Amino acid sequence: MEPSPQNLILINANIITLDPFCPRATWVAIENDKIVATGYGKDWEKLRDKNTGILDCSGKTVIPGLIDAHLHLVSYAKSFLTSDLSPDKNVHSISDIQSAIKNCSRSRPPGQWIFGRGYNEFYLAEKRHPNRWDLDQVVPDHPVRLTHRSGHAHVLNSIALKLVGITRETGDPEGGMIERDLKTGEPSGLLYEMGDFLVDRIPPLAPAALEKGLQSANQELISMGVTSIQDASSRNDAEQWDLLKLWKKSGILHPRMNLMMGIYAFNKNNTQYRLNELNQNQLRLGAVKIILDDTTGRLHPSQSELNEMVVEVHHAGQQIAIHALEEKTVKAACEAIQFALEKLPVKDHRHRIEHCSVCPPDLARKVASLGISVVTQPAFIYFHGERYLNTVSDEQLKHLYPIRTLFDHGIHVAASSDGPIVPPDPLIGIHAAMHRLSATGEIVGGREKIQFTAALQMYTLNAARATFEETIKGTITPGKLADLVVLNADPTQLAADEFRNLQVDKTIIGGKVVWERKHNAMSYM
Ligand SMILES: [Zn+2]
Repeated sequence: MEPSPQNLILINANIITLDPFCPRATWVAIENDKIVATGYGKDWEKLRDKNTGILDCSGKTVIPGLIDAHLHLVSYAKSFLTSDLSPDKNVHSISDIQSAIKNCSRSRPPGQWIFGRGYNEFYLAEKRHPNRWDLDQVVPDHPVRLTHRSGHAHVLNSIALKLVGITRETGDPEGGMIERDLKTGEPSGLLYEMGDFLVDRIPPLAPAALEKGLQSANQELISMGVTSIQDASSRNDAEQWDLLKLWKKSGILHPRMNLMMGIYAFNKNNTQYRLNELNQNQLRLGAVKIILDDTTGRLHPSQSELNEMVVEVHHAGQQIAIHALEEKTVKAACEAIQFALEKLPVKDHRHRIEHCSVCPPDLARKVASLGISVVTQPAFIYFHGERYLNTVSDEQLKHLYPIRTLFDHGIHVAASSDGPIVPPDPLIGIHAAMHRLSATGEIVGGREKIQFTAALQMYTLNAARATFEETIKGTITPGKLADLVVLNADPTQLAADEFRNLQVDKTIIGGKVVWERKHNAMSYM
């Protein structure tokens, strides 16, 4: 890859700008890290001098840089270091899981942790989660932790349970659940909503190992055209901020970052985020993240606790992002935000609901009336669609990821992958939002299809708006950051079955080509 010059003009391009004043263009000029002009035909020539780099796009399509509005970067980096037990990797039974972890154990000394992720009981022949005894059979001397595809359940073998201090006597922690054998009361190894509990008790990865995972994660992200990430991890705190800053400074992480802060870090009044030490367009502090769940059949936190949290964050002038999947939790999130707004009205608060997975029209009306944005995951339809069709009730299926309904109610909808839950490929998400097709080719909620432009907007302008960054990101407009993606085909001209061939050719962040597909015809003149 040649070094990008300070001034660069992309020419002969089919540019989808998403800028309503100038929706299409054939060239875009960049100075340093910003877009300075766009236009048609040959009028770019007058901007050119001897130091200007020219990138001839040979008619290819250029779109604004893609933004993943909800991803867990450290978990995504770690996913490159753990054994992938998803159905895509041909794991179709508990014995497949057993052979995979047995294999891992061969290369490590007893006592060293083994991590597996992405198992999906729906696709296992036994149609159940594995348990400690399944794991003990093959790996008795290494602690094992498997993470369910959702990230919300884990399975530990006996030695791992012992190391984290879970015995028959251990009570369920707040918000979590230890599954037990009905007869003996012995923990089965399956733990629900206990990720935080485990993180505190399992030794962290060595920094060098994590950095290796991050390099792979970065490579994947830029190859998918992702130029900005909003990290939604509820455990984010000052330590994560420092880690991100380090990664940003060392240049191993290309996409721009927005780091949400967990509610517990916020409550500790952690104000040591030294924003000025780094270019703010590289790393910014985002919303305060609150997890609201209903796994155990009652709200956690309770409605009154949630109201209190939301009021506190809202009064501090901070944006709030509430994780809410079910109708019940989405309602509770709305109620808490309404409660805070009644006490202190704020016009442009941009509080967000993350996921909002089940949302009938009545509830969408409520979300809209409160000015709440939604951050949805269209690619779940592609990756989980078959399971939804088989396991979700018809009543809920009607209102599952109802993206069109949300748009129709005037809600600002941004899109994301929730990576590593599914691969963070925005083109798959755009495809799923447009065609509502699962990987197996079945239609999931066909009435909720949206047009290409709206789908692209969820990954660009609307995602930028979700972090108050729409004046610097999200469209190809002079003055904004030069984050651009060159595609191998024009997505507006592709049929549903051709869309999966759509690929990113080049990713440009701040005017620099950070990634390009090998063997393509484009070149610098
Ligand atoms: Zn998430």
